[in-house]
Amino acid sequence: MEKIFTDEYFMKKALFEAEIAFEKGEIPVGAVIVVDNKIIARAHNLTELLHDVTAHAEMQAITSAANYLGAKYLKDCTLYVTLEPCQMCAGALYWSQISKIVYGASDENRGFVKMGTQLHPKTTIVSGVLEKECALLMRAFFRLKR
Ligand SMILES: [Zn+2]
Repeated sequence: MEKIFTDEYFMKKALFEAEIAFEKGEIPVGAVIVVDNKIIARAHNLTELLHDVTAHAEMQAITSAANYLGAKYLKDCTLYVTLEPCQMCAGALYWSQISKIVYGASDENRGFVKMGTQLHPKTTIVSGVLEKECALLMRAFFRLKR
């Protein structure tokens, strides 16, 4: 039997969140947090709406997942996010001790890899899942803005 709950499956859910952000005029980044194949948090970037530079999709997903779990550490959780986390989000993810991070498009300029931000030693990283779709949405957004 083919596996349904793949990284691609959950990245599509994150992409759906990114599309909602796009429609609101927000930079289209979406995230979901999954535990035991169940989505426990969905979020998208809301920096414009909230006038808050910290309102990245990941930050809200972390808070939402912790509320759901009633625990501060995101043990056995996986974050799916359409864009490589920035150093702020990577820092927050470090504190959350999340088990796994899966991201779509790389952020060559402001991603945590370029910035040299360390993630928690317990965290596994997977990159490039539905990379094209994730990057395409970002490009389409910035093309509209110019
Ligand atoms: Zn961020």
